[in-house]
Amino acid sequence: MIKPGREVFTGRTIHPWCMLIIWMFFSPAEGKGFGFHAHRIINRMAVYTLPPEMIGLYKSHIEFLAERSIDPDRRAHVVEGEAPRHYIDIDHFGEQPFQSMPRGWSEARAKYSRDTLMEYGVLPWHIDEMAERLTLAFQNRDLDQILINSAHLGHYIADACTPLHTTLHYNGRTPAERGIHALWESRLPELYAHEYDYLTGRAEYIPDPLGKAWELIEQSHHHVTKIYQVYDSLHSVIPADQIYVVEMRGQATGQHFSRTFSAAFHRGLEGMVEQQMQKAVKTIGDFWFTAWVDAGQPRLDDLSRQSISQRLLQMINNQESVWGNEKESVERSVQ
Ligand SMILES: [Zn+2]
Repeated sequence: MIKPGREVFTGRTIHPWCMLIIWMFFSPAEGKGFGFHAHRIINRMAVYTLPPEMIGLYKSHIEFLAERSIDPDRRAHVVEGEAPRHYIDIDHFGEQPFQSMPRGWSEARAKYSRDTLMEYGVLPWHIDEMAERLTLAFQNRDLDQILINSAHLGHYIADACTPLHTTLHYNGRTPAERGIHALWESRLPELYAHEYDYLTGRAEYIPDPLGKAWELIEQSHHHVTKIYQVYDSLHSVIPADQIYVVEMRGQATGQHFSRTFSAAFHRGLEGMVEQQMQKAVKTIGDFWFTAWVDAGQPRLDDLSRQSISQRLLQMINNQESVWGNEKESVERSVQ
């Protein structure tokens, strides 16, 4: 995620004639990062990258890690300042943005201003901040904070592996192309993620977490061109009446990309979605492992026998009551 609140956040306005098109494509699942379904899978599979010293704790709480993976998207609708943590429109920053954009937050803020960075996204810096929070949680051997920060860090890393979270054209180059975002990161994983291979190898130490976050974003951004090339080529060979279908998903009826188009798009991407999900799984494991190493490799075996505190559960329940409607509407759409 996020892109749903972006027009609000960025102050961008929508021409009235676009509203019909937007209604057609704006399912509640749109722009949910990798999509709720994929985020849950990714966090779950990341557990299996961990070394013996860590895997017991993470396996004991794997359902929590999977379910809390979607919190950042859900709170993005109600928490000011959350939305830009999920993306960076790097192509706003010139022809060679990865050369012109300073990697460090202070330097980037000095060059472009905080307001500009908040408008075009702060994803890499937020990954770095979340990694620090997780390291601190390990240092304190704080079970609640280890688990909640692991789950949420996983979300942002997965977002960084989503190419359309790195571009101004995050949901089409024109209003008529709106829906491509949800197609790539929600529709395709819903249709095909069960066929993917998630064996990615064992978690490895990351010497430079912020540099790694930038590396993910740069690699993701390179895929944007191909996404639109495939999209354009299919529009030239598939008849218009076979591209979209009106169908009921959960309890919502709307216009969606047809299975024919989705399958052709998936084939045309040549494994991109699977590779990006694999990259997310492996990198999440790497970040979790790195935070544990940087914290001095604390023993976790006794923590794995502990339960999450009532205080955290109460906090989650309170948040659920705020997010309740959002959760319902989104989950209905991805059933
Ligand atoms: Zn997100």
